[in-house]
Amino acid sequence: MAPEVDTTALHRLLDLQGEDSAIKRLVDQRGSLPEAARLEELKSQLAELDADLEIAGKQRDEIAREVARVEGEIELVDQKIQREEQRMYSGQVSNPKELSALQAEVEMLKKKKAGLEDQELEAMVGRDQADTTVQNLTTEHEQATKESGELTEKLGELTQSIDADLARHNANRTQIAGSIPDDMLILYEKIREQKHGIGAAALENGTCQGCHTALPAKEVERLRASGGLQRCENCRRILIVN
Ligand SMILES: [Zn+2]
Repeated sequence: MAPEVDTTALHRLLDLQGEDSAIKRLVDQRGSLPEAARLEELKSQLAELDADLEIAGKQRDEIAREVARVEGEIELVDQKIQREEQRMYSGQVSNPKELSALQAEVEMLKKKKAGLEDQELEAMVGRDQADTTVQNLTTEHEQATKESGELTEKLGELTQSIDADLARHNANRTQIAGSIPDDMLILYEKIREQKHGIGAAALENGTCQGCHTALPAKEVERLRASGGLQRCENCRRILIVN
């Protein structure tokens, strides 16, 4: 014969199980929010973008310096050309040898200038590309920052709401647990730990709601007849027979 068991307390076990399952669900939900996962993704994306932006900015500055350097050089060559041409056409130089040397010098300077202008053009194209890269990265960074801000806010709201639910279920749980005898509670906790969070289950239509196994009719009959604290013969969970 089963030991004398408080039937009301036994039914309270199902209420307790309800609270424990709700708490477990909420804790799982809190730990696996897709918003949190996306936020982590965004954080590493932003860190990458920060690094990329730093490199792209440095490259752009370097090319801009190169453009300025070539422009300065062109300016100098230009001044030199002007000086030599002035001398050529000033009439001060009358020696034909000296004149043709001057002419050759001006030709050489003009070639040098043309070469420098090619360099300048190439550097300017590179600077434009570097500008575009920095702009694109900046836009991407702004978008990720915006999304990250929105998600942080949403996540805060979600977490707050889950925490409020958790607090409510925890309070209920404490209250229910207080009305269940210690030995019954200890057994329930032990089984719950071993059986994926479910220590007590109802027997409904001859089926254990813990392991979803239909028990043999004879066993169901025996359970109904004996009363008291019973356990599922399949999963060993505490079985609450109505
Ligand atoms: Zn079972």
